[in-house]
Amino acid sequence: MEKIRMTTPLVEMDGDEMTRILWQMIKDELLLPYIDLKTEYYDLGLKHRNETDDQVTLDSAEATKKYGVAVKCATITPNAARVKEYDLKEMWKSPNGTIRAALDGTVFRAPILIKGIMPYVHNWSKPITIARHAYGDVYKNVEIKVPGAGRAELVFTGADGREIRETIHEFAGPGIIQGIHNTDQSIASFAKACFNYALDTKQDLWFATKDTISKKYDHNFKDIFQEIYDTQYKEKFESAGIEYFYTLIDDAVARVIRSEGGFIWACKNYDGDVMSDMVATAYGDLSMMTSVLVSPSGVYEYEAAHGTVQRHYYKYLKGEETSTNSIATIFAWTGALRKRGELDGIAELTAFADKLERACVKTVEDGRMTKSLSLISTCENPVILNSLEFIQAIRATFDAL
Ligand code: NAP
Ligand code: MG
Repeated sequence: MEKIRMTTPLVEMDGDEMTRILWQMIKDELLLPYIDLKTEYYDLGLKHRNETDDQVTLDSAEATKKYGVAVKCATITPNAARVKEYDLKEMWKSPNGTIRAALDGTVFRAPILIKGIMPYVHNWSKPITIARHAYGDVYKNVEIKVPGAGRAELVFTGADGREIRETIHEFAGPGIIQGIHNTDQSIASFAKACFNYALDTKQDLWFATKDTISKKYDHNFKDIFQEIYDTQYKEKFESAGIEYFYTLIDDAVARVIRSEGGFIWACKNYDGDVMSDMVATAYGDLSMMTSVLVSPSGVYEYEAAHGTVQRHYYKYLKGEETSTNSIATIFAWTGALRKRGELDGIAELTAFADKLERACVKTVEDGRMTKSLSLISTCENPVILNSLEFIQAIRATFDAL
């Protein structure tokens, strides 16, 4: 069989631990036999990040801007224990944070739905994609523990020296205050990434804040979204047959639970932090969550939502059998290959991605799965496979499709 040809390389960001092992297995078993795979390879494994003083992470982000599509393996975010384990020169920053900052991107997370793994919310028959604004608010706050009686004020001093001053509270005794901020530019980038992704995936976009209570702060989010929608996206949405829907956050939560899914839910930073864990858990399992970083200029980086599965890796190093679920990492590859196919007009590549995803789903639905999936599946005698056997089972399903 002739291999599918590619014209533009994917930016390939290799990673750490168990997912690095799966990465190679996926390439060997599921990609290289079928595709004349073109990638520009960046080794984001912690050892190499340390050797390059993390330059490799910045280089991979620049390459993503250049080529437009990247696929990333999970990577270690170093903490004190990792500094010791890898004898690091520094506690390097999270690669995801670095790449997100370089691309000014928004992360979209969606579950992979499979028959036999029922969402806890039974009417969710389609995936709900969460988009979390990843800048500001309470994550960049300034706080004061008020020691006793006194006045708390909010003061803005303009570059021109002009002052705006508001009293927050006249304290009669001890208390707390918090200062948070956001920027119009960051909110606008977030809005554009959301509108673009909605158009790209032909799904409705929901957005919610608490603008009735926060009449300036939250209202500003609402206004920026509405203004960008009206001036740049309204017609495109109408011709794509999709909707932009704004409501209050508490109303949104109630509607999400009653819905059948199938839309994108854009969340402010804190709402996204809370709701993405709620939605992920309700759909079943972290190992079945996909993740894509989208920049406002339309650059895409695909990855799995889970980490490097450290516990399994230590078993693997001891020569013990592992049963690690590779589906989310495979979907990172298929997401990137499909996008490359769309951008370069290579229909075979897009069709390959669709077929490989169907093969993953069918393998599990036919009762062959990893240990963690068997624990949440309603399938009656599931065959539990090890990490490599599972990938080989997907290949067998793929070949038979
Ligand atoms: P994790 O890798 O997501 O794994 C946590 C646990 O979830 C695992 O121990 C395993 O449970 C289960 N799990 C996750 N993915 C699985 C899969 N594909 N198949 C089967 N089980 C799976 O999180 P972590 O162990 O807390 O973090 C490990 C490293 O990953 C950390 O260094 C962290 O910095 C990094 N991390 C990276 C990213 C990223 O690059 N996007 C995201 C998160 C974390 P059992 O052990 O019970 O089987
Ligand atoms: Mg969180």
